Amino acid sequence: MKPSSSEFDLIKRYFTRPAPGAVLGVGDDAALLRVGNGMELAVSTDMLVSGTHFFPDADPFLLGHKTLAVNLSDLAAMGALPRWALLSLALPAADESWLERFSAGFFALADQHGVELVGGDTTRGPLNLCVTIMGEVPQGGALRRDGARAGDDIWVSGMLGRAALALAHHQGAVRLPTAELVDCTAALHQPAPRVALGLALRGMAHSAIDISDGLLADLGHILESSAAGAEIAFDALPVPEILRTLSSQGRGEVAQRCALAGGDDYELCFTVPVSRRSGVESISGRLNLPLTRIGSIVAGCGCIVRAPDGSAIHLEKSGYDHFR
Ligand code: ADP
Ligand code: MG
Repeated sequence: MKPSSSEFDLIKRYFTRPAPGAVLGVGDDAALLRVGNGMELAVSTDMLVSGTHFFPDADPFLLGHKTLAVNLSDLAAMGALPRWALLSLALPAADESWLERFSAGFFALADQHGVELVGGDTTRGPLNLCVTIMGEVPQGGALRRDGARAGDDIWVSGMLGRAALALAHHQGAVRLPTAELVDCTAALHQPAPRVALGLALRGMAHSAIDISDGLLADLGHILESSAAGAEIAFDALPVPEILRTLSSQGRGEVAQRCALAGGDDYELCFTVPVSRRSGVESISGRLNLPLTRIGSIVAGCGCIVRAPDGSAIHLEKSGYDHFR
């Protein structure tokens, strides 16, 4: 569907930038890309749908950021170096002030990570944002979901539950004080993809995944792919202070749901042999990024979450699923 006569003007104005790292970028029928010798191409795509992933009136600058960020997060989880992106847009109208801000948010993050936009598609339709991202990883060196082994420590980066708390606030399930609301809202709208961490974990982590749907759901994918089980300690989870406060105010269920099943955090969950604990700690120092040990991979299947008294915590839903 090519309804708008100014489609090509829009692409030229908002989405055409030099791409010196590509053989050929925006403007032909396909981009041409060359990966280094001994490297593999890591490719992933993620779509953001209005009304499902964001509110229709969301700030376009932040949307531009997040559309790319969620894709960068997938490459981070593979330990790949991001190189190129394709951007496919369905737009209800050619709203130039919207496009101006959207593209500014997109390119601000792209520039931070040295990512070049080399193509895409632009059509009229209900607002829908889709990025395909490509990166490079040395042959056989990617971080995968299927490498966890019994005895590995389980680690997570940053903090869990902030994006879910912001959403819970907007839906009226909790009332956050102003400072916490600002912090959690930033986590929801401007996630920081952990690309540098993914690169640093190459050759060190046995497995990794990014937490897009909630810790239990995403760790569950590692466990399934690796045919292993896990035990984690609820009290070890890195969560904002406000979440602990909610627990002590009798809102423990909301707190558990945000920490264990809250989506949209885009932190990394990864497993590393015990012998490499100090290696992970030095990465944490070097990147100035908190990395927290939350439990262990064990033989068996499924994940047990221990409360401080040793009892098991059970949740109704382990994470976000579009069809459940
Ligand atoms: P075709 O009809 O051959 O698929 P298009 O007319 O859709 O080509 O697009 C023209 C060029 O602009 C292509 O190189 C395409 O990859 C690029 N392009 C289209 N939309 C976008 C976008 N939103 N961002 C970046 N590049 C885009
Ligand atoms: Mg096209």
